Amino acid sequence: MKAFKRAESNGFMIPDLTLDCAYFENTKCKILDGKKLSNNFVQQSQTLINGRKIPCLAVILIGNDPASKVYVNNKIKIFKEAGFLSKSYILNEDEYSEQKIINLIESLNNDENINGILVQLPLPKKFNSTNILNSILPSKDVDGFLAHNMGSLATGEFNSAVACTPFGVMVLLHAYGIQLSGKNAVVIGRSNIVGKPMGLLLLSDDATVTFAHSKTKNLKEICQSAEIIIAAAGQPEMITSDYVSNSAIVVDVGIHRKIDGKLCGDVHPSVKEKASALTPVPGGVGPMTIAMLLLNTALSAWDLSNKK
Ligand code: NAD
Repeated sequence: MKAFKRAESNGFMIPDLTLDCAYFENTKCKILDGKKLSNNFVQQSQTLINGRKIPCLAVILIGNDPASKVYVNNKIKIFKEAGFLSKSYILNEDEYSEQKIINLIESLNNDENINGILVQLPLPKKFNSTNILNSILPSKDVDGFLAHNMGSLATGEFNSAVACTPFGVMVLLHAYGIQLSGKNAVVIGRSNIVGKPMGLLLLSDDATVTFAHSKTKNLKEICQSAEIIIAAAGQPEMITSDYVSNSAIVVDVGIHRKIDGKLCGDVHPSVKEKASALTPVPGGVGPMTIAMLLLNTALSAWDLSNKK
């Protein structure tokens, strides 16, 4: 996988999970286990850290969004497990202007002990997230959201951080031996953080990619002809089994909390009856996103070709 070469040259490897045969109950649908693969990357990080600089992530959380707090705590927990450092900045939105946040980011840009800076999204409405994100030094943008890093992905150079969620999906597909070359892949969603980089990554590994979005007509028919479906529309359980051809591979990026408190994705549970492989929610793409954040932060600290 082309996007993984930089990680490979710094000692990371994608384990082979092709013989790992866990299936959803009473189905022939294989579980693509992101939790297991994420744990493997935590272990690799623990080993690779020996004799190297300990990577450190600065996490900035502004406001009181409960889901954001959970995501930030999960990230800090995984960094600790891997033996990496993290510093959190929990900011009260009433006490911080946009400029004051940018000043904080600039001081972190200049701090040699900080290798990655993550601003947890979404930001409270009063802030312009583009202005804030653009103040991060590209070499410390471990989320891979900045134009510089998106450009490196779009041109296929892959010499800087790749957006964590789509990168995690690619690594998961690769670990389970899913071939992409020549496959028809549909990406549902065109956001800058998931859909667009996802499509570009699939393209870089020679899939034939269709981007679908909120204005797409005949989405069901488009999905029915896909061998790989990446559901990232942010619509709970929208992809039902009639969207999916027999033996399609389905990746569920969505995360939603239902009224009963349980989590669900963009893919309806009935899809298990038809698909040949599916990512669970929770335990699929979510843990892989954090694993790739870990990897991107390690590369920011260790990769000698990393441009400052
Ligand atoms: P977004 O709202 O920015 O983008 C959603 C995209 O889906 C848009 O491009 C829109 O055009 C498209 N869309 C919306 N409704 C549609 C419809 N009915 N048919 C076709 N396309 C439609 O969301 P995002 O940030 O890209 O995230 C997408 C989902 O992934 C959300 O559920 C989000 O919570 C989840 N997410 C999960 C992780 C993770 O780590 N698992 C990370 C990021 C996002």
